[in-house]
Amino acid sequence: MGTKGIEIVDMNVKELIALLNKAFSDEWLAYYQYWIGAKVVRGPMKEAVIAELTQHAADELRHAEMIALRIIQLGGTPVTKPEEWYKFSGCGYDAPDNPFVKEILEQNIKGEQCAITTYKNLVNLTNGKDPVTYNIALQILQDEVEHEEDLQALTEDFETMLKYSK
Ligand code: FE
Ligand code: FE
Ligand code: MG
Repeated sequence: MGTKGIEIVDMNVKELIALLNKAFSDEWLAYYQYWIGAKVVRGPMKEAVIAELTQHAADELRHAEMIALRIIQLGGTPVTKPEEWYKFSGCGYDAPDNPFVKEILEQNIKGEQCAITTYKNLVNLTNGKDPVTYNIALQILQDEVEHEEDLQALTEDFETMLKYSK
């Protein structure tokens, strides 16, 4: 940990680390939800959905990495046990037990909407207090907003396709 780097954080560092570990746990669960979703998904437009889910999985893993590095910079330890992801997670995990495209898209849209709320709160909380975490939270927020839109656009295409294939 860098002492000056921590000194400039104008908020309770322990509380901030706890919030970051919550987001970190969310990211791992989101990563796996996308990753396994891309494997099991079935139905029309499957190829386009697989491509999007796979790309989002990679993004969520990158987010986990960004947050882990920030936790370490702040003198904390990222969650070390996968079983603790569930304990700390704010957005949870939706198993793709119904592999139909529409259902998987809906589950992941719900996850993205939760992630958007999480990062909006982190952006607000760190604004003017911790510019480094603020910048990370803002970058991730931009990605999550893009993810939601991608999935909603796919859902729209899917519904349009159903409408005109009758
Ligand atoms: Fe993410
Ligand atoms: Fe996302
Ligand atoms: Mg995308």
